[in-house]
Amino acid sequence: MTKYKPISEKYPHFLHGGDYNPDQWLNYPRILDEDIRLMKLANWNVVSLGIFAWAALEPEEGKYQFEWLDRIMDKLYDNGIYVILATPSAAPPAWLVQKYPEVARVDSNRVRHLFGGRQNHCFTSPIYREKVRSINRKLAERYKDHPALIAWHVSNEYGNDCHCDLCQEAFRNWLKKKYDNDIKKLNHEWWSYFWSHTFTDWSQIQTPSPIGETTIHGLNLDYKRFVTDQTVDFFKNEIAPLKEFTPNIPITTNFMGTFPGLNYWKFAKHLDVISWDSYPTWHGNEEDWVVAYKTAFVHDINRSLKGGQPFMLMESTPSVTNWQLVSKLKRPGMHALSSIQAVAHGADTVQYFQWRKSRGGFEKFHGAVVDHCGHENTRVFKDVKEVGEILKRLDPIIGTSVKPEVAIIYDWENSWAIEDAKGPRQEKKDYLLTCQSHYRPFWSKCVPVDVIDMESDFNRYKLLIAPMLYMIKDGVAERIKQFVKNGGTFVTTYLSGIVNENDLCYLGGFPGPLKEVLGIWSEEIDALHDKDENYVVFNETNELGIRGEYKTKELCEIIHLEGARDLAKYKEDFYVGYPAVAVNNYGNGKAYYIAFRNNDDFVDDFYRKIIELLNIKRSIDIDLPIGVTAQLRTDGNKEFVFLLNFTDEEKALDLKDIEYIDIVDNDILSGKVILPPYGFKIIEKGN
Ligand SMILES: [Zn+2]
Repeated sequence: MTKYKPISEKYPHFLHGGDYNPDQWLNYPRILDEDIRLMKLANWNVVSLGIFAWAALEPEEGKYQFEWLDRIMDKLYDNGIYVILATPSAAPPAWLVQKYPEVARVDSNRVRHLFGGRQNHCFTSPIYREKVRSINRKLAERYKDHPALIAWHVSNEYGNDCHCDLCQEAFRNWLKKKYDNDIKKLNHEWWSYFWSHTFTDWSQIQTPSPIGETTIHGLNLDYKRFVTDQTVDFFKNEIAPLKEFTPNIPITTNFMGTFPGLNYWKFAKHLDVISWDSYPTWHGNEEDWVVAYKTAFVHDINRSLKGGQPFMLMESTPSVTNWQLVSKLKRPGMHALSSIQAVAHGADTVQYFQWRKSRGGFEKFHGAVVDHCGHENTRVFKDVKEVGEILKRLDPIIGTSVKPEVAIIYDWENSWAIEDAKGPRQEKKDYLLTCQSHYRPFWSKCVPVDVIDMESDFNRYKLLIAPMLYMIKDGVAERIKQFVKNGGTFVTTYLSGIVNENDLCYLGGFPGPLKEVLGIWSEEIDALHDKDENYVVFNETNELGIRGEYKTKELCEIIHLEGARDLAKYKEDFYVGYPAVAVNNYGNGKAYYIAFRNNDDFVDDFYRKIIELLNIKRSIDIDLPIGVTAQLRTDGNKEFVFLLNFTDEEKALDLKDIEYIDIVDNDILSGKVILPPYGFKIIEKGN
């Protein structure tokens, strides 16, 4: 593999900075001057500018005020700070909503919202789209040649739907297109015969509502798909003037991890670079290293969204959030560690929300680089400055990535279908948690992983893991079969192969179109109460060489072998002796089926064997203590290994007799190495 291009050729270094909202401080000219001095001191080289500045840019309809922004853009550039310029559509000004009520969104209860909040607009309204396009055109025209401009930050955290009459009409048109204008086809795919919910005319169809229809799963799924498509359509309208005036300036919008409201895989295609806002709850109820692997999982999604292309950590907090139930201060070391964690998984930027704490308003207590005290003599400021120092030494890592041999499928539409299903348990469906628990052994064993959706290409991997693949869209099973036939190893679990993409159950036995490749038939699923216990015991001579028994929880599937071999069996209950783990040879590959929900001890042992068996490449070939991971970035030639200690204890590692260059401390390392509490090392393999 080769290197990707830097995010901006104008500044081919790590970007370090964050949200800057000078529009809140226009009456404080001395503070604006002080900002520049402090930014340079904090090693900032980029700001995301004007994200909520519409009221300051267009205080009256058609009357624009750009002089303040001109001055700030110039001043930033003169001081070596680049600008990711925002479009302000996430929060329209009050005059706009007052004058054009149709721009306010209507919620699922059919209540038209008032002015306020953010992402509170209709995404279909032609008036809103026109107003957004106008302000964006003005921004693009005015700043297209500004030397500070390196990227566009479009809107902010898209993530609302609308149920107004305009959106109802747009949804019906979306459905007509999907179902070839044939309402009988829609009725079949939605199985609307149930409870006599059959539609005889398109005009009868309404978006899902708590005061109306919520029980047709096909409708719910299609509405969610429509929301993604309509948001993307809105986005395309937003970026048209940016593409027209600045075709070479990359465009992004900030995603929100595994936010369920939008299918980011559909959205990602329309972005030049992925960016996301990461706010893990460090030092909370879970151990930090557990939070770390769950966060790593999301970083890996963001890297995988564009096939490995480095992403931007658009927002993170320098200290605390003000919205987590309890948000402890980051312990010494954690700020640098969590920032470098993003880099380890493919980020080419470290950015924050926000530069200076607002004096008032909703986020006045949210962590920021400059506190209300206004000076640089704070712990947080020093932490931020230090991260800037470290990033300056990482130029060789810009544009590098990783080519994992392992992929885990975490699929948005599958998660929608699982969440919407009634049964087999209403509580603890835990699709995301289950995917993360299958990711955990790889994080601990420092094996790089891509996190993909079911429509991604599988052929570049050795091992494909698809926990709870409840929904299987057309063509996916065929691609899985081909993958295994060609020598790939496939692992899936209980609750897979149940419905098609419109949530119609597969007929002829589960796991539907995966029956053949897995060589099993799943007859029933037993839901366990939290108090219930059962165990799975490995056969003495099982080919994985796993010994002993593992506790089951929540879901136990009763399966029959139809060509597969069992590796483990249930220990108790009326399905004692039934297969609980099975493997099937198919073509040149193998397909594993895990029929029960398990604890972490099972996935740890199971995947340790699979990693050995398939000889899967690790980031570094050493043993790591619990809570420590190693992640890899490479340009195909040089290998950069990130050793990250997510515990509050010192950890000793043995690098053996291989020599590495510590690229932060510019030191040679080999043999025993100590990672301090919340410490890290970035090492390059020497020649
Ligand atoms: Zn609407």
